[in-house]
Amino acid sequence: MKFDIIIIGGGLSGLTAGIALAEAGKDVALVSAGQSSLHFGSGSLDLLGCDEKGNDIYKPLDAIKAVNSKHQYNKLEDVSSLAGVAKQLLERAGIATTGNITSNHWRITPIGGLMPTWLSMEGMATIEDPDQMPWRKVALVNIINYLDFPTKFLASGLRDKGVEVDVKAVSLPELQKLRQSPTEMRSSNIAKVIESNELIVKLAEEVYKVAGEGYDMVLLPAVLGMTNSEKSQQLLKLIKVPARYVATLPPSVPGVRMQTMLRKRFTALGGTFFTGDQVTEGLFEDNILKGVKTAKLDGTTLEADNFILATGSFMSRGLKADYNRVYEPALGVDVDDLGLDRKTWAKIDVTDAQPYMEMGVKTDENLRCMRNGTTISNLFAVGSILSGHNSIKRLDAGGVDMLTALQVANNIIK
Ligand SMILES: Cc1cc2nc3c(=O)[nH]c(=O)nc-3n(C[C@H](O)[C@H](O)[C@H](O)COP(=O)(O)OP(=O)(O)OC[C@H]3O[C@@H](n4cnc5c(N)ncnc54)[C@H](O)[C@@H]3O)c2cc1C
Repeated sequence: MKFDIIIIGGGLSGLTAGIALAEAGKDVALVSAGQSSLHFGSGSLDLLGCDEKGNDIYKPLDAIKAVNSKHQYNKLEDVSSLAGVAKQLLERAGIATTGNITSNHWRITPIGGLMPTWLSMEGMATIEDPDQMPWRKVALVNIINYLDFPTKFLASGLRDKGVEVDVKAVSLPELQKLRQSPTEMRSSNIAKVIESNELIVKLAEEVYKVAGEGYDMVLLPAVLGMTNSEKSQQLLKLIKVPARYVATLPPSVPGVRMQTMLRKRFTALGGTFFTGDQVTEGLFEDNILKGVKTAKLDGTTLEADNFILATGSFMSRGLKADYNRVYEPALGVDVDDLGLDRKTWAKIDVTDAQPYMEMGVKTDENLRCMRNGTTISNLFAVGSILSGHNSIKRLDAGGVDMLTALQVANNIIK
């Protein structure tokens, strides 16, 4: 089977590249092994949230100009324009967002912190300035027995910011069956139960009963709408008082929604998605990747003019480590381990910025991979598999994922 481009990995970065290339009329195939990291995300995408010392960044565009020389943002032709293209690409996939590149806004974390971010999916609670909370009194309305929305932490975090908080809880008889086992009471299962218009109306009525008066804002767990935003938006409108969602602990319903909608857009554009399959080997000739073999397409080689490696970081097994080395398992491309001694890969305090987070595949200035020290002319890498950035220390994950993907799409189209 032959395509113009084959993308390996179907998370945020692979799908962004796939959509951009399919929109440009390319014949694109995407092979993806399993769930992507979006299933754990927050419904917000970060561009650059913290400086080297951990201070919040208010104006990301200025800060991007000062990132260190290894950061992948140095390989982008025009960060500002790519950021605009990313927002529009999401919009065309039906994913409306608030936020822009000139100013970060702040999202509320599931444990009550405030984090600077770039784009937040519509309906999520956002704050323009963390030093000026927009609400005096908030109702935090959980679903009874749902444990992945830790209201004690959330309330405490908001109170620390001077907000008066009342914690409430509601339920519907239809959720009773999930309550029989705590492991069933998960966000994705709640989303599957509350899908009909009738239940959305009933839930809005229950929320209104406990928080309909006396609050500047009603905050709800983001547990509605796995496939589109229609239901979650409908609930906010029906509650009749200002209401917004806060991300829950994983699984993340907004993240799954983003993944589902991006994939839908990719296939609607004619892209081919090989799901649940894994690239196991690359066939290289004279520093060109000719084709890839997969675990399930026995005996078939997938061929293309260009390939994009978007297999993610350690969590998605795009990178692996043994006692001696960090390596890229699918195609055996070169990894930048920062020259660190094994003992210094990780720091004992888990809250420290972990050095291993900055390891990733090596690329040239056009984001092309290297193998045994030589550039592979038609193999690019995008997203969290890249070296030189630290999504926990600098809060730059979504920006690196989407903007490197768009840059590579441009590099291929050129
Ligand atoms: C708990 C959590 C919270 C987060 N919160 C935020 C946030 O608030 N803001 C933000 O900007 N970012 C956040 N992130 C980070 C963000 O989700 C990731 O940076 C992003 O999803 C990575 O996208 P990716 O496409 O590079 O990789 P991934 O999403 O990891 O996708 C890689 C895909 O490749 C597949 N794959 C791997 N190997 C192969 C192979 N050999 N063949 C075929 N397929 C393969 C995997 O199965 C996976 O589907 C969060 C991440 C986590 C874990």
